[in-house]
Amino acid sequence: MSSSTFNPDLKDDADVQLNADGSLRHLLTLKGLSKDILIELLDSAEAFLSPEGALPVRSKALNGRTIANLFFEPSTRTRASFDLAGKRLGADVLNLDVNTSSRKKGESILDTIYTLEAMQVDIMVVRDAGAGVPAYIARNAKDFVSVLNAGESDVSHPTQGLLDILTMRQYRQDFENMTVAIVGDIQHSRVARSAAHGLETLGIGELRLVSPPAMAPAADDMPFAKLVDNLDDGLRDADVVMALRIQRERIGNLDGIPGIDEYFANFGISRERMKLAKPTAIVMHPGPMNRGIEIEGIVADSPQSVITKQVTNGVAVRMAVLERVMRTLDAR
Ligand code: ASP
Repeated sequence: MSSSTFNPDLKDDADVQLNADGSLRHLLTLKGLSKDILIELLDSAEAFLSPEGALPVRSKALNGRTIANLFFEPSTRTRASFDLAGKRLGADVLNLDVNTSSRKKGESILDTIYTLEAMQVDIMVVRDAGAGVPAYIARNAKDFVSVLNAGESDVSHPTQGLLDILTMRQYRQDFENMTVAIVGDIQHSRVARSAAHGLETLGIGELRLVSPPAMAPAADDMPFAKLVDNLDDGLRDADVVMALRIQRERIGNLDGIPGIDEYFANFGISRERMKLAKPTAIVMHPGPMNRGIEIEGIVADSPQSVITKQVTNGVAVRMAVLERVMRTLDAR
């Protein structure tokens, strides 16, 4: 893993996120999160979905509560969906403009957190390029505050993992008989890691991580997955195909990284290549999508594509997570 280092002794996020009674206090990682909690969150997210074209589901679960969105890295879908999720649950949502925030003036992350605590913020949603930042905040937060990881370096993106898994379950149900191929820059992808950790716990039949050698994860990173360096082998008879963006912002040394045309020819999800997967296979992408690089536009827009469904599920999953941690805080 090539995550940008923040604080090396912050490792066991799995322990930090649970209270002593096993209830979910923060959401930092899907690694080590129990099957029961995963299923509870997926089921709860389902209940926050409404039929297409209908009004969104609303609840008063977070009435009077305050959520702060702290995104120290760019975001479109995750930030917008946390914003909507909080509002649909009745919370006040504060979207901090990180470009004008005091962190730019040298304020430490903890001073920012203490400031928000003083304003009676209940839930802090954090995205940061530094590995360990969400757990660091969680360890230092007051006991009336919950921290949700909205994307941590290349380490973890647990709500993305949940929404991806929810989407797979909606179309396939049975994880044990499912073959999932995640294709692209696996090494730098927090999306791949979170999906992999959740799928492992849910007993995925086969998980293939398909990438050029320069973008492959270390062998011991996700040992339960099969590392594949040939797209045809990776796609053959797959039920789910997920394309990933090349994370150029996380790649220090571009040596060995293929050019765009070469990449598309060898690892792009094209209509032709998709013929190798099952005819019923679904196509996923976490966004932002680079059409013509990791995925052909015609595939992204095809009936097999569930990319916009992932976005819809993202709001529901974030509502489920917000509601779950709020219940934990309320039970204090
Ligand atoms: N939106 C996803 C993330 O934040 C995927 C990406 O940026 O490529 O990790």
